[in-house]
Amino acid sequence: MNILHKTSLGLASLSAVLPACAEERKHPAEDERPNIIFIMSDDHARQAISIYGHPIGQIAPTPHIDRIGKEGAVFYNNYCCNSISGPSRAAILTGKHSHKNGFMRNGNKGFDGSQQTLPKILQANGYETAIIGKWHLISKPTGFDHWMILNDQGDYYNPEFITENDTTRHLGYVTDLITQYCEEWLTKRKNPQKPFFLMMHHKAVHRNWVPAERHYRLYEHVSFPVPDNYFDTYEGRYAAQRQKMNIYRDMYEGHDLKMVAGIGSDSLLYDPWPHAFMGTMTSEEQQRFLEAYRERNDEFYAQKRSFKEVAEWKYQRYLQDYMACVASIDESVGEILDYLQRTGLDKNTIVIYTTDQGFYLGEHGWFDKRFMYEESFGMPMLMRWPGHIKPGTKVTGLTQNIDFAPTFLDMCGIRIPQDMQGVSFRRLVEDGKTPKDWRKSLYYHYYEFPGFHSVRAHFGVKMERYKLIYFYKEKIWELYDLKEDPSEMKNLYGKEGMEKITEQLKTELARLQEVYQVPPKLCR
Ligand code: CA
Repeated sequence: MNILHKTSLGLASLSAVLPACAEERKHPAEDERPNIIFIMSDDHARQAISIYGHPIGQIAPTPHIDRIGKEGAVFYNNYCCNSISGPSRAAILTGKHSHKNGFMRNGNKGFDGSQQTLPKILQANGYETAIIGKWHLISKPTGFDHWMILNDQGDYYNPEFITENDTTRHLGYVTDLITQYCEEWLTKRKNPQKPFFLMMHHKAVHRNWVPAERHYRLYEHVSFPVPDNYFDTYEGRYAAQRQKMNIYRDMYEGHDLKMVAGIGSDSLLYDPWPHAFMGTMTSEEQQRFLEAYRERNDEFYAQKRSFKEVAEWKYQRYLQDYMACVASIDESVGEILDYLQRTGLDKNTIVIYTTDQGFYLGEHGWFDKRFMYEESFGMPMLMRWPGHIKPGTKVTGLTQNIDFAPTFLDMCGIRIPQDMQGVSFRRLVEDGKTPKDWRKSLYYHYYEFPGFHSVRAHFGVKMERYKLIYFYKEKIWELYDLKEDPSEMKNLYGKEGMEKITEQLKTELARLQEVYQVPPKLCR
């Protein structure tokens, strides 16, 4: 068994730009290797996790998710490499950027499951591995002793699960089912003496935000703060002017906002995918759903509203449903943490909470993700590991989803393959500080254009204070000073006084593309 610790990155080009690997860390003894539960939801914004301190999270708190951060670490500068579902999942599995793992956009022909992945390496080193919930990589999972995945995006009510043997519809609410199946797998593991790696992947909080019945009315009277830039006019930002992910212009009124045709109506307004929404509910569930929204839907028609008032009404409906879906995830996390405590597994289990990328909760008027702006580029990340991570640790160094695989291997005392592009951030989280030689920049690349929501393809570099983005098909640059303009409203590219920093960022961007071996044909 290979439990050698990686002491250098091996690749000269990588070590030139990325941090030299950590000093030698203590390896867990064979019988003390930690278990890992990797809880990943979908599209869960940092703004909607109360420990991050955003006003939305304060109004609708997430005490159970917060517990992971309070008893462990909160990551404040964790980012994805490609802000969309499949590509982020592929990057997490491989520790590599999209162009290296081959899954650059949703709708690709399928993740190449024959390549090296984190679960395969763990499995080869004696771990029992499982994935339960959303997979979204088209091909069948590989490297798992047990897998049970949602069909495609998965449905909120009575979803289909795919296993090695069949595809079956299961009765229940998706978050609750995934929680139940994870607990059952933990309880009935084939080899309880082996350490385990469980990927618990929720469908929530993905569009179209259908809460559990017990949460339909949870936030119905709650008014969420409308972002200052909700009515952004996108001045100086070419791609932002051309997106189609605006809450008040592009959301589907029936499908997304649960709006009906008129007072007392049971007919939803525009819903292009009824088979994946009310169509999966039983007729009784459909009725209870319609009744739960009826009072509020009737009230919408009871008074005349201006365009601005309708736009703000839609924002409230979106947030009320989004946060009600978050509530089911929060309960699920509480249940798993209680389970670990009850069984004593908590002492030697690393628990991670994250999501596949960030999300817009009305900033710039948007829902969805894709852009390299902070709300979707940023990923929440909380991590608990008793005895290794001090409660209340704050990780502020730049970390990325390609780092997850090497970090987990490092924590399990398994050699990190030299071709992984991410690096272990174990020392940041264990020491609670960022070493001087840690990375100073991050690379991002979004490919999916043409595609849903019409966000132009772009790549970019983020450094501590500045961010440079290039929409390469249109040859348009954007530059932001995140200290002065955290909402990224003022494109400073080409402005007087910005010449020097622009050159520095362009040099860094070119260097990262070389280090990560991004083929030039993917950059034009
Ligand atoms: Ca997602």
